[in-house]
Amino acid sequence: MAVAVAFAFAFAVEVEVGVEVGVEVRVEVAIEVAIEVRVAVEVAVAVAFAVEVRVAVAVEVAVAVEVEVAVAVAVAVAVAVAVGGRRRGPMVPLPAPRYTPPVRYTPSVRRRVRPLSPARAARLRPLLDALDAELDRTARISADPVEFPRRFPDPHDAEVAGLVAVSLAYGRADVFKPVVARVLARMAPSPARFAERFARAPDPAAFDGILYRFNRPADLAALVAAIGHLRLRHGSLGDRFTALFEEAEREAEAEAAEARSKAPRAAPAAPAPRALRPALSRFAAELRDAPPVAALLQGRGGRGLRHLLPDPSGPGASKRWNLYLRWMIRGPDAVDLGIWRGVPPSALVVPLDTHVHRVARHLGLTARRDASWRTAEEITAALRGVDPDDPVRYDFALCHLGMSGRCPARGEAARCAVCRLARACLSGPARSSTRRSA
Ligand code: SF4
Repeated sequence: MAVAVAFAFAFAVEVEVGVEVGVEVRVEVAIEVAIEVRVAVEVAVAVAFAVEVRVAVAVEVAVAVEVEVAVAVAVAVAVAVAVGGRRRGPMVPLPAPRYTPPVRYTPSVRRRVRPLSPARAARLRPLLDALDAELDRTARISADPVEFPRRFPDPHDAEVAGLVAVSLAYGRADVFKPVVARVLARMAPSPARFAERFARAPDPAAFDGILYRFNRPADLAALVAAIGHLRLRHGSLGDRFTALFEEAEREAEAEAAEARSKAPRAAPAAPAPRALRPALSRFAAELRDAPPVAALLQGRGGRGLRHLLPDPSGPGASKRWNLYLRWMIRGPDAVDLGIWRGVPPSALVVPLDTHVHRVARHLGLTARRDASWRTAEEITAALRGVDPDDPVRYDFALCHLGMSGRCPARGEAARCAVCRLARACLSGPARSSTRRSA
């Protein structure tokens, strides 16, 4: 039992710190752990709820008083573990248990994963096309932050609205979307012109009254001023990102050439896009360090802005950054805008969130449990087998399969029976019956 609880803590905290996820996911992770080590699911669920509350409070406090979030989280977990060790019951009042164990088709997805072979990629593609085709785009776009940049026909406004929207796209969509709408309403009618004017003459009170979780009006003012500064200096965000991407590509090619000269007989490394992450990291740093930012954040500190514009070279999957790039670079189609033409869609990395991660594990695109950049790259590499020129083309469909609640954490007969991906799913009923008959 103690081991199970410790595992549940570890997974719950890892998920909390690594990506923005809901309680539902923490509970699912806890349940998975509980099943693996055969302990009571209710205990694991209780622990997941308790840790979620403690860690959320710790992070809020850390942001408020400008201390290290990692330290605060570690303290919260230590306290939670200590309290959990003394008590046998839940640490906070809990709702009635609402989890019913589903039909379990596979004991572990991890043990059954194989690299995506060309034959498997060829089988997967029509299934993904079918999933994509059946998607109710109008309904799903209205539940997605891509709705905001799509409101603006001018690409300059769209790239600014997109960055504002994606920076705030953490937590639940139905909670952050009204916040994004309020920020953009203050920047109407042209977010691009507003941001440029704002960079020249910042008004610290421009976003007064708009608060969202870790962010305060000063953070929003700094974000908009930074966007305006980059646009004034480089013409557009797209122009600047493209220049950084090309620079990073040249550096990656020079590094590869040097490695080849040192080991001429070594097999050439498989071509893999390596420029995106460093380019993104420099882009984020330029925004955070834009000259108008410091004055706007006086007395506030930079932690809130860093949450809006995180560093992609960190351990996380940088879901929001990769989502923004997907919107700007691929397409145009019914979802993505395709307004930055200087970067190829083949260089994109899948915006890894809990929904995409879950479906990717079901499909055997990754066996990794951590929501890291490495996992995102692994899933992207598998999807590159399906479409080398546009590996993230199915991201919207995969994400909304998870978001809509149609794909459970483990295979369930009723939901899997109507799933377009069932024939390729490692957790679905088709696989299960194949194995039974083999
Ligand atoms: S078959 Fe079931 S578990 Fe697999 S992807 Fe579809 S809904 Fe999810």
